[in-house]
Amino acid sequence: MENIPVVMIIFGGSGDLAHRKLYPALFNLYQKGLIHDHFSVIGTARRPWSHEYLQEQVVEAIKESNSSFDEKDAKEFASHFYYQSHDVTDVDHYIALKELATKLDKKYHAEGNRIFYMAMAPRFFGTIATHINDQKLVGSGFNRLVIEKPFGHDLASAEKLNQEISESFAEDSVYRIDHYLGKEMVQNIMPLRMTNPIVNNIWCKKYIANMQVTLAESLGVGTRGGYYETSGALRDMVQNHIFQIITLLAMPEPKALDSDHIHEAKQELLDSLVIPTPEMVKQHFSRGQYLASDDEVEYLKADQVAPDSKVETFVAGEVNFKKGPVAGVPIYFRTGKKMKDKVSRIDIVLHHMNNLYGNAHSNNISIIIDPRSEIFFTINGKKITTEGLRRENLSYKFSKEEMAQVPDGYERLLHDVFVADRTNFTHWSELKQYWKFVDAVEAAWQDENKDIKQLEQYPSGEFGTESSNHIFEKDTEHWIYR
Ligand code: NAD
Repeated sequence: MENIPVVMIIFGGSGDLAHRKLYPALFNLYQKGLIHDHFSVIGTARRPWSHEYLQEQVVEAIKESNSSFDEKDAKEFASHFYYQSHDVTDVDHYIALKELATKLDKKYHAEGNRIFYMAMAPRFFGTIATHINDQKLVGSGFNRLVIEKPFGHDLASAEKLNQEISESFAEDSVYRIDHYLGKEMVQNIMPLRMTNPIVNNIWCKKYIANMQVTLAESLGVGTRGGYYETSGALRDMVQNHIFQIITLLAMPEPKALDSDHIHEAKQELLDSLVIPTPEMVKQHFSRGQYLASDDEVEYLKADQVAPDSKVETFVAGEVNFKKGPVAGVPIYFRTGKKMKDKVSRIDIVLHHMNNLYGNAHSNNISIIIDPRSEIFFTINGKKITTEGLRRENLSYKFSKEEMAQVPDGYERLLHDVFVADRTNFTHWSELKQYWKFVDAVEAAWQDENKDIKQLEQYPSGEFGTESSNHIFEKDTEHWIYR
């Protein structure tokens, strides 16, 4: 692997994301040689930590994430880390940060290359970007900005944030990260579609009845009620992860497999996204809040949640496109907290065949993203001794050893930032379409005159709201995973 010289500045260096995901991912890239002698990381956050304390934290983070922990390697890696305490609104701190970055650039021969990673509460993103520009933190080599979700709260705030960012960074150096795009099975959607005639030839309305995306969590908000109150399931999960998956399922085949062609194909699809009318929201969307379980209070009683909160912890709905191979095929999604299992999966439901064998079950293609990686087809055959049909799964899966080699989404995506591959990052023009969709649903929900389905309470440990079982276009449709 190429050894890339760089000084990386992580805003939010004492946070959960940095500790659980970024430090272990960087360590793996260090071990693989992508970053090695000529890299250094500045962690910044409000706390008054020392360089040594951050380095200890980095070693700790690697230990927690790595079963074959080697202390010597981890310490050597952590020696590249420096800490700068920093308050996002304080100009002097950016000046201190610039001085440290310049010093480290010289020490590590980083060639003026900088990566800025915003791993903080999104309300700070715009302020940081403005200061990076005003205090001239950018280096003389490449400058890349990695930005976490959520990118804005609605289209208007996302546009404002984008404006602030674009003053310091050109669109092609902005990496809007969505770790779902780094997941093994999400990256498998295009090869599955494009390399198998058995899949490729049926990827159209004639054969596919509907598609279903389920991203379910079994936990509730825990202590993060305060954050969740500013977001809700629609903004937290649909606007990014669910839409990214749906885009990969529905986009036309790109003319080539490079970033430009892939994003061109995505854009062609997203320009044809049907923005839901209030009537569509009424018919095909459902939202709710979870009730208590043995181990967790109901959402309305969670820490820092308003007792009359209208924030949804579950949402189900439908997405349609006017163009692309599956134009006119309903794509249903549901996501929520306190559901039966922690699972991320896609179910492609094919039309039934009704012939001399009767009304056989449909052939479905299921893609399991988490907690295991698997693709399976359900097919029909005859029963051995009695009359009738039996159903079996044909499965594509990995061995335990192979699973252990699958890199974490953050490792993959950080690798892509280092090598400037924007294939698996969201472009602004795509994000805009996602926000238009989300804003239309929110507006319908807020409009009390529109007789929209009200927020429901749903039992913990099941599949969300009762009305989510009735959002389908046809009475014969239902959720495959139950
Ligand atoms: P966190 O609350 O654990 O960390 C926030 C960091 O910001 C801390 O280092 C804190 O010291 C710093 N900070 C807060 N106020 C500051 C100020 N005024 N000046 C300087 N520093 C300040 O948050 P997190 O869970 O690490 O999430 C960070 C970002 O990553 C968010 O945008 C979140 O949506 C996104 N994200 C997190 C996860 C995850 O697993 N934690 C997953 C996906 C995306």
